[in-house]
Amino acid sequence: MISFNNVSMRYPNSAHLFRQVSFSIEKGDFVLVTGQSGAGKSTLLKLMAGIEPPSSGHILINEQDISQLHPNAIPYLRRRFGLVFQDHKLLYDRNSFDNVALPLSIQGITGEDAARRVRAALDKVGLLNKEKAMPITLSGGEQQRLAIARAVVSRPSIVIADEPTGGLDKTASLEIMQLLKAFNDVGVTVIIAMHDVAQVSTIAYRTLHIEQQTISAMPAQAGIL
Ligand code: ADP
Ligand code: ADP
Repeated sequence: MISFNNVSMRYPNSAHLFRQVSFSIEKGDFVLVTGQSGAGKSTLLKLMAGIEPPSSGHILINEQDISQLHPNAIPYLRRRFGLVFQDHKLLYDRNSFDNVALPLSIQGITGEDAARRVRAALDKVGLLNKEKAMPITLSGGEQQRLAIARAVVSRPSIVIADEPTGGLDKTASLEIMQLLKAFNDVGVTVIIAMHDVAQVSTIAYRTLHIEQQTISAMPAQAGIL
């Protein structure tokens, strides 16, 4: 579903983050991207989602080389991805419902159809009773669950989360991981960047570990940390 072929990446005027890396992620995988701070985890996620171009090599999403896509096709590519960030990137002047409705309204889906989908997504993350709440009144864990509802409301086939449990306590972190796993269980490919994998002890996952400009892929394992 996602394949990297001899991909190298460096930002202008800095050293390579990785050189000539090749790996693939299959539909339905639950993948952790690990590595020290600054290793290039966020960058790897951005390459996958077509947000940053690689310095060289090819990235294929469903057999399609994303560097060859017509600019008009980029919004359609983005729609396949639900993105979740550590800092949520919620709109703090809009309530929960409106935050989740935003990706739909960008796609021209409004009214009852949108409302039904927004409520279904809020229900999945356990926030149906908070649809009118402003994000600032929610706990850190609830804000992250709201960000997940917004990421999945367009039914993406891939969810990418960058340190989604950053700043959360252990209980809230575990809830977020279990929620992402629940989407994975219904077929969504889930890719999570994390420097601390201690919370995921009961979840089977594959890892892509970034170190010394290379990426090593390890097969599915139940966490042992
Ligand atoms: P991680 O997520 O593993 O902490 P990042 O992918 O965020 O790593 O960053 C890897 C390195 O690339 C860091 O040294 C960071 O400063 C640098 N970097 C990240 N984004 C940019 C950018 N847009 N321009 C230049 N350097 C960047
Ligand atoms: P509906 O089909 O009415 O949208 P569902 O209960 O099937 O309701 O899904 C509710 C919400 O859960 C969806 O809007 C979406 O946010 C999320 N969801 C459920 N299944 C998937 C899936 N396979 N991929 C992505 N998101 C999903």
